[in-house]
Amino acid sequence: MTSSAIWHPFTQHALEPSMTRISRAEGAWLETPEGKRIFDGVSSWWVITHGHRHPKIIEAIRAQAELLDQVIFAGFTHEPAEAVAAGLLKIAPPGLRHVFFSDSGSTSVEVALKMALGYWKNTGRRRTRILALEDAYHGDTIGTMSAGARGVFNAAYEPLLFEVGRIPLPKPHHAQPTFDALEIACRKGDVAAFICEPLILGAGGMLMYDADALKEMHRICKAHDVLFIADEVMTGFGRTGTVFACEQAGISPDILCIAKGITGGSIPLAVTMCSAPIYDAHLSKDRSRTFFHSSSYTANPIACAAAAANLEVWRREPVIERILTLTANQALCLKDLEADPRFSNLRQLGTITAFELANAQQGYLADITLALRARLLERGVLLRPLGSTVYVMPPYCTTKDELKFVYRSLVDTVDEVLS
Ligand SMILES: *Cc1c(COP(=O)(O)O)cnc(C)c1O
Repeated sequence: MTSSAIWHPFTQHALEPSMTRISRAEGAWLETPEGKRIFDGVSSWWVITHGHRHPKIIEAIRAQAELLDQVIFAGFTHEPAEAVAAGLLKIAPPGLRHVFFSDSGSTSVEVALKMALGYWKNTGRRRTRILALEDAYHGDTIGTMSAGARGVFNAAYEPLLFEVGRIPLPKPHHAQPTFDALEIACRKGDVAAFICEPLILGAGGMLMYDADALKEMHRICKAHDVLFIADEVMTGFGRTGTVFACEQAGISPDILCIAKGITGGSIPLAVTMCSAPIYDAHLSKDRSRTFFHSSSYTANPIACAAAAANLEVWRREPVIERILTLTANQALCLKDLEADPRFSNLRQLGTITAFELANAQQGYLADITLALRARLLERGVLLRPLGSTVYVMPPYCTTKDELKFVYRSLVDTVDEVLS
C-alpha cells in the first residue's frame, strides 16, 4: 500500500493513492501544472463565493501584506478588523451587536457554544444542555462533533463527546414532531442553547427544510429563554439566495456563526456574532467573567483585509443578481434530470442543488462515491458526492454553459459508473 507524507483530510490514502496537483485557479476553474482545467463544482469545499481570485480581494491581500502582517488582538486593534466588524453589523440580522473573530467554522461554533454557556454562568442560572438537529454538522473539533450527528466520522472519539439533546429534522408539511420535541426539551429548563444550520444541513446530506419551520423553531426557543445559535458557516454570504439564510425566516439568532464565504473563500477567517445580552453578561469589573477564548491568529490583518474587500464587493457589485442568475440556471439543469429515474429526490435551495442516485448503496461510505469522483475528474469536473447524495455548489460567477457542461459530465459519468 502506498503511503503519503502529507496526511490529507477526509482521505483514505489506501484507496486514493494520488492527489490531483493544482497550481492555479481563476473564476470557477482550477488548473493543474500540465494545464488541465477542472471545474470547481464544490467551490473548493463550499468556501469560494464570487469565484477564485476575485481581483478586489486579491488586491486587498497584497496591499495589507505590505503594511501589517499580524498583531496580537488582545489589547490591540487594527483598521481591517474594524472595517469587517462595522460591515457585518450593517448586513447581519438585526439585534446582533458584537463580533468575535476566530479562524475556522469549527472555532466559530466552539466560540458560540462557549458564549452561550458563559452567558448562563455569568447570569447565575444553571443551564448547560445543548440541543441540536439530527443529521447536523457543525465541525470536526470535539465540541462541534458533539453537537453534530454521530456516525462513522466520530465513532472513535465518542467517549470524549458530550451528550446533546437531539431534535428531529423538520419534514416538509410534517414539522410538528420537530416542534413538539423542541418544546418538550426546552420546557425542562436546563437548556442553554439550540444550535442549527438554517434551511439546509450541509455535510449531513444537503437536507433542506423550509423557512416557516426555522421561524417556528426560533419562536419556541425564545418562548423558553433558550439561546438560538445559527450556524451559517456554509449558508452565509449568499449560498441560499439571501446574504444569510436566517433572513428568509425573518429571524435574528442570539448567536451567529460565519466562516466559509467571509473572505470570498480566499483565506481563513471566521466570526461569531452575538446579541447585547450575551456580551453584557461577560462585561464586568470582575475578571473571572472575561470571555476566555483566543487563537494565535485572531483577526489576522491580512485575512480581515480580504473580508473587508469581500464586503466591499457585496456593496459595489451586483452579487445578488449573479446569485439569482445562477439559481435560475441551476433550476433549469435540475429540471433536465427530472425524467431520469436514476436521479431521485431532486432538490434545490438557492445556488445549491442535490439529489440521490437511485439504486446506489446509501450512506457516506457508498462504494460508488470514489468511482464517480474519479471519472468526473477525468472529464474535468470536481464534484464530491456525500455518499449517494450528489450536490452541485458552484461559485457565483458560473455561466449557464459551464453549468450545462457540469450536468452533462455528471450524466455521462453516471451512465458509465452505474452500467
Ligand atoms: C464547514 C462547516 C463547519 C466547519 O467549518 P470549518 O471551517 O471546516 O472548521 C461548521 N458548520 C457548518 C454548517 C459547516 O458547513
